[in-house]
This record gives sequence, C-alpha cells and structure tokens, in this order.
Amino acid sequence: MKILVINCGSSSVKFKVFEMPEGEIIAGGNVEKIGEEISIFKWKTKEKETKKELKITSHQEALKLISETLTDEKAGVVKEVNEIKGVGHRVVHGGEGFEKSVIIDENVIKRIEEYIDLAPLHNPHNLAGIKASMKYFPESLQVASFDTAFHTTIPEVAYLYAIPYELYEENRVRRYGFHGTSHRYVARRYAEIGGKGKYEVNVITCHLGNGCSITAVKNGHSIDTSMGLTPLEGLVMGTRSGDIDPGIIFYLEERKGYSVKEINNLLNKKSGLLGISGYSNDFRNLMEKKDSDKRASLAIEIFCYRLKKYIGSYMAVLGKVDAIIFTAGIGENVPYVREKSLENMEMFGIEIDPEKNKETVGKEGKISTEKSKVDVYVIPTNEELAIASDTYQFIISKQKQETQ
Ligand code: AMP
Repeated sequence: MKILVINCGSSSVKFKVFEMPEGEIIAGGNVEKIGEEISIFKWKTKEKETKKELKITSHQEALKLISETLTDEKAGVVKEVNEIKGVGHRVVHGGEGFEKSVIIDENVIKRIEEYIDLAPLHNPHNLAGIKASMKYFPESLQVASFDTAFHTTIPEVAYLYAIPYELYEENRVRRYGFHGTSHRYVARRYAEIGGKGKYEVNVITCHLGNGCSITAVKNGHSIDTSMGLTPLEGLVMGTRSGDIDPGIIFYLEERKGYSVKEINNLLNKKSGLLGISGYSNDFRNLMEKKDSDKRASLAIEIFCYRLKKYIGSYMAVLGKVDAIIFTAGIGENVPYVREKSLENMEMFGIEIDPEKNKETVGKEGKISTEKSKVDVYVIPTNEELAIASDTYQFIISKQKQETQ
C-alpha cells in the first residue's frame, strides 16, 4: 500500500512515498522557494534523480505538481492518484486537543486553524498543504500527525509556568513541546532494539537538529520536554536562543529601544549558534573552526553545556533511566557533542565508549560501554516513517471495520 507523507514549511513542501507496511521509500523530493521568482523541484525515485527550476506560487500549485509527477507516465511511480491510499501530514501545533494522529475532517481543520495563534509560522502552511492534498488526492485518507501530540502526557507540574494561572485558563499559555513525532519514534525504536514493550522504557531523547529539544520519557510516555509554548525555549539551537532570563527582553526594550518584533527576530533568527559564533548556524562550519576560532569554540561548548544541564535534570526527574538517545543532524553526526555532554557522568552510571562513539556517525548504534548502567544510543530519526505508519494503521482499521 502506498502512503504519501507531506511536510509543508513556509516556502517549501517536502514529500515521500512509502510502500507500507515494509516502510520502503519508493519516491520523494521537495518543492523549494515557493512564491519566489524561481522555485526548485527535486524528484527522486529508485531509478532517477531530477531537479527542475520553475515558478510555483503556492502550496496548492506545489501539491498539483507532486500529484502530476507521481502519476507521470515516464517519471511517476503510480498510474493513478487513487493508488495513494493515504496522505499523512505533519502538523506542528495540535494544542491540548490531539493526543494522537487523527483522520482529518472539518472539525480537525477548524481546530488546527484555532492554533494558528500559537504557531503562526507553521500551522497556516500545514493547513494549506492539507487543503491542497484534499483537492489533488481526493480519494486518499488524510491524516494529521502533530508535533505536540506525544507531549500531551506531560503532567501539570511540568507544563504550567509560574505566571498567573488565569493565563492558562483563559489563553492556554503552557508548555506544549515539539518534535514529538521524532522523540516518539526514537523511544519506540530503542524499545524495539532491546526487545522491550514500548511502555516499558525510561529514556532521555535528544533531538539535535536545526531546532533542538530534549524529552524525558517515562514508561514510554513524555513527562517533560524542553520546548515550551513555542519552539524557542530550552536548548541552544541553530539560530534560536533557547532558555534566557526573560529580564533580557525588558532590558533590550528599555536600554536599546528594541521593539517586540525586533526582539522576537533577534531571539528566533539571530541567536543560538549563529549569535554566539557570529558567522554560522551550521554545526559543520563550527566544527571546522573549533580549534582556530574562539567564538566558534564557545558556541559549541555552550551548546554542549546546556544539553548536559538538561540531561542531568531529566535524570533527576526520571529516577531510573534505561537510555540516553541522540538523534537528528547534530545528534547523529557529531561524536564530540555526545562525548562532551556526557563527560564525567560515570557517577550517574553513564560511560561512553570513545571508539564506538567516533565510528557511529549517521547510523544506528550503541555507543556506551558494556559496564555503563545507562545505555547510550544513536538512533537516526524518521519522522516521515512514523507518520506513514500512523496513516497506514488508520487505513487498516478502517478496512477491518468495513469488512465486519
Ligand atoms: P536537521 O535539522 O536534523 O537536518 O539538522 C541540521 C543540523 O545538523 C545543522 O546544524 C547541520 O550543520 C547539522 N549536521 C548535519 N550533518 C552534519 C554532519 N555530518 N556534521 C556536523 N553537523 C551536521
């Protein structure tokens, strides 16, 4: 059964076609620079890879292009769009309402619209993708997977901020957490590797990509995570500050005359690794200059230090920890970050094997020693596969209901 997974950003649509239940990718690609003078369309199948420049003005046009390419006589992978049995959509903010992926209907669309306030940079584009997909894949089951869903099990004590309670009651100001599909995927994968049930593991999952977040998972459920009301809180990220003293905001306004909009831009786009190093948000660039540039080195050290603090606090929160898991671009590819964030933690039962750590780059593997009480793993994330699996499960249950 073929399932299409779609991830719509502000000016891009990434997509993959999976053969399920095998989880094999049979095609994929992306449309980039939507709305600009020249957009880019990349398309890849097992046989061929192509790249085209053309003008795509909206997500709707991008989805039309994807459906036409999928069914193209020469380049395509299906004869008709109805061979795509389901379309799974990544949706960033599902608020408190969605604990799991859901089949999209009018009500779900309304709820996603309601959360535009909390995710203005993401939900409108996710919605545009959903609406276009309903048009170009009218017979496919449309499913939404929320970044926030895995974190709906976080208890009050961890999701409430110490600000007037009315702000939660009236405006739903609270911690929501993001990257949930990724945290869930690697936690489940760890359980699978160890032959344990998915609700039998306590793990700390570190998603370190352009955006970074860390989650404490108890008995398979998220009980705390570092991102908050928005994806700005927590770890140091590519261009986002993560945790700061909120007093800095007032200082910038009072002393430097910055507007709220400018401060928002500064904390989201000009801070993090970029802000500290002064030249790059890309970890590869920083690692190249680690030994020659003081600020590149500082950016890396502050990144690792913040991560270490969170790991320590989540160990305290969990009590018993089976594993610490690293994933996403930095987590999968940078042994130095793993070594540095876990150094001198033998007292807590954590011991990394330096050789295994060094050789586990871009692939799955255990990097702790046999003596280590806590497993340390690198597990490449696969959010698209998790979304494809959820979509597939809905179709199978629907088919079962119909035959009963
Ligand atoms: P993601 O958001 O998961 O695509 O991760 C993007 C981040 O991972 C960027 O900071 C990249 O610089 C970093 N990254 C990806 N591959 C590597 C690599 N081979 N070495 C160092 N950093 C990497």
